[in-house]
Amino acid sequence: MGSDDHTLWDAITASIRAAEGGGFTPADRHGVGGGCINQAWTLTGDGQRYFVKLNDAARLDMFEAEAEGLSELRAANAIRVPRPVATGTAAGRGYLVMEHITFDGRESSARFGAELAALHRRTAERFGWHRDNTIGATPQVNTWNADWVAFWREQRLGFQLDLAARRGAGTRLVDRGHVLMEHLPAFFADYRPLPSLLHGDLWGGNMETDRDGRPVIFDPAVYYGDREADLAMTELFGGPGGAFYRAYDDAWPIDPGYGVRKTLYNLYHILNHYNLFGGGYADQAERMTDRLLAELG
Ligand code: ADP
Repeated sequence: MGSDDHTLWDAITASIRAAEGGGFTPADRHGVGGGCINQAWTLTGDGQRYFVKLNDAARLDMFEAEAEGLSELRAANAIRVPRPVATGTAAGRGYLVMEHITFDGRESSARFGAELAALHRRTAERFGWHRDNTIGATPQVNTWNADWVAFWREQRLGFQLDLAARRGAGTRLVDRGHVLMEHLPAFFADYRPLPSLLHGDLWGGNMETDRDGRPVIFDPAVYYGDREADLAMTELFGGPGGAFYRAYDDAWPIDPGYGVRKTLYNLYHILNHYNLFGGGYADQAERMTDRLLAELG
């Protein structure tokens, strides 16, 4: 282990001690795979285990936003969320330390549905959040706005379309995207969303079950927005199954217009995937845009 590694892990240990107000001597540390963006480690000692994410020191802001997002979700007391412990930088690295949770791969879909509805019951006065954060590695702008349609148009679709245009996306995708932005109010003719607390990046990889059978959500991109945006994302890369949606709908019925709007909400994530990874996501985004424009008749 190099001296930079020593400096880094000593700093992490000191920050855990400071945050927890007690002694902590790490006895074991090992790397874990599975993350999209950061390097992940578990750190164990004195009967405690922490989950540590590392990235460049320049990404500290991303970790601070993630820690605040975890706290915001925990405050709702609706679904289990890892407790953030510390953030900081040392030896050119940024770190985020949180409670380690052991996942056991069990199914908890129905409970997840009910608990997600409870999370969404927590609302704000407006749409957005008190700070920006990231969606994947892309900045996510959360400036407060009383008007959800304007929020989605400018801070979600418009933001990603601008990035896509700069990345060299075809003019048809960008132009059709702008036509869609102009027509957004049509999708909200009989529907008034509330500013619900959202996880914000709720694909299957960010939801697990703990050893007591409780659903756990992590790696959020928190803001207050239409709860349908969270629901839509659960469906994007293979959904949690019918029991989840039935339980959610029992707890808080889903508006019939969701079936159309979910494409509008997932378009944001597909554009983001294009901006992060390129490739076939441009075609997928274009097909989604066409489908939405076809709904306008
Ligand atoms: P990234 O920010 O790089 O996408 P994730 O937050 O998705 O990383 O974490 C990577 C993997 O580590 C997850 O797929 C999950 O299995 C595991 N993981 C995440 N948070 C915890 C935690 N608090 N305790 C234990 N394992 C975790």
